[in-house]
Amino acid sequence: MSQLYSPSQGGRSTGGGDPQTQLQSRLHGLRSNIEGIRDIAEETIRVCTVAALDLEEIGDSAKVEEVDSSLRSLIDSQYRLGVERELMTRLATQLDTETADSDYLTAWEDKVSRYDGQSEAQKYGKNSQYRDFRQQIWDVKHEGAAMPSGLFGGDGNGDGEDSDEDLVIAGTKLNYRCPVSASWLVEPLTSKVCNHSYSKEAILGYIRAHSGTCDCPVDGCRKKIKAKDLFADQVLERKVARHLRQLEAEETAAQYTLVQ
Ligand SMILES: [Zn+2]
Repeated sequence: MSQLYSPSQGGRSTGGGDPQTQLQSRLHGLRSNIEGIRDIAEETIRVCTVAALDLEEIGDSAKVEEVDSSLRSLIDSQYRLGVERELMTRLATQLDTETADSDYLTAWEDKVSRYDGQSEAQKYGKNSQYRDFRQQIWDVKHEGAAMPSGLFGGDGNGDGEDSDEDLVIAGTKLNYRCPVSASWLVEPLTSKVCNHSYSKEAILGYIRAHSGTCDCPVDGCRKKIKAKDLFADQVLERKVARHLRQLEAEETAAQYTLVQ
């Protein structure tokens, strides 16, 4: 994993420039750092999900809940960093005004207290990464069955809109075949651009054949895909493996019935 934090590039090497330009340059550097940390947080959530899946498979629910609570803190921090980044962007344009500082604090208080005042379900239930995490954990023991919305904790506000979305998520995630090779996903890579997944060898070959940029090979998806937009999707890899194990078990059971 890359370095979590390094001093902002802005302002350090610039010997000259007036104080305001230097400050703007620093703010710019700080914004890039925030972006970097948010990327790392996303990667961390993926890594935690893989670990939690292993724990769920061996039945250690207590440890899964520990990972869950760490993820919630991470999501809270991500939210705060998002607010910070947004306010930095605004601040960089109003350095000349005296109100900038009080604006910053008021906006911060306002956004963060509104976030903190939300129910658990509102904070995490609507976070797609967290929902995905809960969905994966749920699927370890309940493959194919719909996940109850109450799993998000709090008041479990499962309004109609949410359940529809759940179904869509479950529907897309159940496709374990590579759109390029049409075979089961092998070492799946997932696109950060459109969230579609492909077998590593197949998609990299496909991208090469299209001179480094291809249209996403999933029907109806027109997003442009480059190799750098893809990440190794270990969570999906586990899901495919579990699905195949399940198919094999069903097949064995069917054969056993036939023999009987
Ligand atoms: Zn796509």
